[in-house]
Amino acid sequence: MGLIVQKYGGTSVSDLERIQNVAKRVAKTFDQGNDVVVILSAMAGVTDSLIDMAQEIAESPDKRELDVLLATGEQTTAALLAMTLKQMNYPALSMLGHQAKVVTDCAFGDARIIEIGAEYIMKLIEKRNIVVVAGFQGSDVSGNITTLGRGGSDTSAVAIASAIKADICEIYTDVDGIYTADPNICDKAKKIDRISYDEMLNMASLGAKVLQIRSVGFAKKYNVPVHVRSSFSEEEGTMVVSEDAGMESLVVSAVTHDKDQARITLRKVQDRPGIAANIFAPISEAGIVVDMIIQNTRAEGQTDLTFTVPKAQFSTAMEI
Ligand code: ADP
Ligand code: ASP
Ligand code: MG
Repeated sequence: MGLIVQKYGGTSVSDLERIQNVAKRVAKTFDQGNDVVVILSAMAGVTDSLIDMAQEIAESPDKRELDVLLATGEQTTAALLAMTLKQMNYPALSMLGHQAKVVTDCAFGDARIIEIGAEYIMKLIEKRNIVVVAGFQGSDVSGNITTLGRGGSDTSAVAIASAIKADICEIYTDVDGIYTADPNICDKAKKIDRISYDEMLNMASLGAKVLQIRSVGFAKKYNVPVHVRSSFSEEEGTMVVSEDAGMESLVVSAVTHDKDQARITLRKVQDRPGIAANIFAPISEAGIVVDMIIQNTRAEGQTDLTFTVPKAQFSTAMEI
């Protein structure tokens, strides 16, 4: 018996049948005598469609109103799951981020959690309610609705788990754990049984979207054990925990990828000191972050210089 936080991602709640499947899992955990708090994402694709709709009104829609709009994706799934559980005669209750007292700063679209008032959720739990919280959202000190950045319901889950001192935070997704590379791209990727917070932080920062990076930061800071697993199977997934002596230490743990990078090659650059600074200084002054740089030496004192920039800044970098 314990206090368990379960977070279900977009594909796990993409239609009513899948929401029923989630309800059965939640009910089973509850019937085993555990207290359960559920954090939900919006149905797969809904956040993207809401963004598209807003962009039909304006290329850069008002940020405050965009967050009000985006938060509705998670409001929908939270209500539908609570309704389904009630229909199955379970004492469930849905709530939005601000009702769960998730207080954030006021950076609309990318807000950070400042604190979570756990008392309200705890009171409901003590009365053996199943609390269903809309992920990805909170509110700032003035009461404005905020969202936590793409993939942010992972962070809602881990932050709430740490606030209510849950025994474990289970992240249910569409793959059965964390792999050495994205299993949807690399079929030779291997499942990892246990991974340290630090290694996972590294993978998340380099593009492995299986966990939002901030959720891993939270888990590390507050020592929340995270179990990443599939909502479609009973198989054990991957434990994300603090590093221990028994952890295998591999030279290469995993390979990550990031599709939002553009590559630029300058051919036949004169190979002499100072030239790289001449190229990169104006790019840096324009606020463009260059990630990887590779230099291939040619004959006759020339070199090919290749570097990557975020795709969104490709044309500005090319102009420079
Ligand atoms: P959810 O909607 O459940 O939050 P996400 O799409 O955000 O799910 O994250 C799960 C996806 O992360 C997987 O479908 C997979 O394609 C991707 N992924 C990227 N790198 C990895 C990795 N190393 N291990 C597992 N999944 C990964
Ligand atoms: N629905 C949000 C997104 O698509 C948050 C999440 O799924 O974690 O980014
Ligand atoms: Mg996600």
